[in-house]
Amino acid sequence: MPFGNGPHRLRHLRDAVEDAVRGCAPADAAALRAEVDDLLEERALAQAVIEQTAALVVVLDREGRIRRWNSACSRMTGYLAGEMLGQPVWDLLVPEERDAVRATFGRLLAGELTSQYENHWLTRDGQRRLVSWSNVALLDEAGEVRTIVATGLDITERTRAEQTLRRQAMRLEALAEASRVFASGLDYKATLDTVARRLAELIGDGALIRIVSPDGAWLVPVAVYHPSPERAALRRRILAAAPQRTNEGITAGPLASGRTLRIPELTRERVRNEMKPEYWPYLEGVTSLLIAPLAQRHEVFGHITLMRDAGGAPYTAEDEALLEDLAHRAAQAIENARLYSEAQNAVAARDEFLSIASHELRTPLTALRLALGNMRRVTSREALERLPPEHVERVLAAAERQGQRLEKLVAALLDVSRIHMGKLELDLEEVELGALVADAVTQLEDEASQTGSTIAAPGEPVRGAWDRLRLSQVVTNLLSNAVKYGAGKPVEVSYGPSAAGAFILVRDRGIGIEPADQRQIFERFERAVSSRNYGGLGLGLYIVRRIVEAHGGTIRVESAPGEGSAFLVELPLRPLCVRPGRAERERRAAR
Ligand code: ADP
Repeated sequence: MPFGNGPHRLRHLRDAVEDAVRGCAPADAAALRAEVDDLLEERALAQAVIEQTAALVVVLDREGRIRRWNSACSRMTGYLAGEMLGQPVWDLLVPEERDAVRATFGRLLAGELTSQYENHWLTRDGQRRLVSWSNVALLDEAGEVRTIVATGLDITERTRAEQTLRRQAMRLEALAEASRVFASGLDYKATLDTVARRLAELIGDGALIRIVSPDGAWLVPVAVYHPSPERAALRRRILAAAPQRTNEGITAGPLASGRTLRIPELTRERVRNEMKPEYWPYLEGVTSLLIAPLAQRHEVFGHITLMRDAGGAPYTAEDEALLEDLAHRAAQAIENARLYSEAQNAVAARDEFLSIASHELRTPLTALRLALGNMRRVTSREALERLPPEHVERVLAAAERQGQRLEKLVAALLDVSRIHMGKLELDLEEVELGALVADAVTQLEDEASQTGSTIAAPGEPVRGAWDRLRLSQVVTNLLSNAVKYGAGKPVEVSYGPSAAGAFILVRDRGIGIEPADQRQIFERFERAVSSRNYGGLGLGLYIVRRIVEAHGGTIRVESAPGEGSAFLVELPLRPLCVRPGRAERERRAAR
């Protein structure tokens, strides 16, 4: 018969002991009483410990029914001992763990003395608590397992804290690693691909990086990553087929504000409302979105977007902080890679320019040397007298032409370095455009007749305050290009007043310019043709543009390959703000 600690039961026990010792020798009776006292004291002690301890203590019978339920169990689960005694312990377990716990229980019954394991208990209010158990099987006299005593510790908070710490450590490690990768990568494309992949691996699932186009209107995709190659390929196809503007779609907000956007639950309606239909399949199955702008010196130049696929947890504030940190590092890496590739391109352009320039300078020099050599051969008076005067004239003209060509090349180089140092000065005076154009046409007539082109110059006179020499350089350069690239067909330069002030339009019907090259040709050393077919330094249009801009004007080209080009210069009649040129400064000083 089990004895509890209640006073009633204790009295019962003591009466039974007195019955048993009646008739015994007094010494034996005293020893038995002392033994019983000891046992009772120990039992009270155990009872106190079980109730006071923070550990869960459950005693189970062979069927897994609860026979003992201490107060720690009640505190954790919310169920009192009175409700739980006699109940099967399995009901407390989360359903997916029940089988495993039964198996462990079976092994304990089969004679394994102890076991250690973890499982989740469900509390009265529906929470899950993780408990780490240590179990002992108690045997009866026959050696059979009578009860299982399970002692558990609630390790929910500890495990959570450990997981958080582990996650933070992983992220820190990943940040450090990403920084290392970013810092080592100077190849622009490779850096972007690495950035996208790392982000996808760290925060998941898909990543996209787009950069704002030079004109600020479009988003240019530069890296697309998804762990599934099929999904990545689909996204690349959509991005290529449906370019997105900077002010369109969900990205417009973060790009304009420079702030990260986190959408924990991305709904179908939101996608339908804010994205154009081409992008619906792109975001199909995406349930959470995180968009961080890429900025350098407060200027947003692109964005990184992370997309969580269905089934994954919504992005958290912690993910957002990590992405922001990574985006910041990525922006620096991208900027470094961009600067590096720009520097490399500049070096390559300069190298090419140097080789073209040396070739261009050598050609007239060789011709000049030939002409001089020709004349040297006839230095004696008699030989000279025998020479037909036309021959002498021809050789001298050739030498003069080459000398002029050299002079032009050197002047162009000087102009470029002047512009580069910000020293392009204008000497303004009143100029009549018609007369200036007529002069330029006369200068180029020889060159045109060699290619078979004619130059027409229709126009209306217009006067303005311009730098005569510089403006004449503009017209000559444009005309000379029109003749050079004009395939021997007629060239026309028209001019006159316009809304902006005055215009000059130089049109040819020659080889034309590919759309992709039309912007570059106005830059230094940029050429759209090979130096083998057409000589030239690639400086003319650069100088032209800078002269036009110095006058407060604009220049643009319209052209189609094979159909010719039209260069339109528009000038105000009087530049708004110019530094007075040398001549003007001298005039002022003389006054
Ligand atoms: P260059 O003629 O010395 O190469 P420019 O700066 O004058 O240098 O012109 C730059 C490039 O622009 C040329 O190399 C050529 O490719 C292109 N280009 C300029 N004018 C014309 C034109 N009228 N037709 C076709 N291409 C042109």
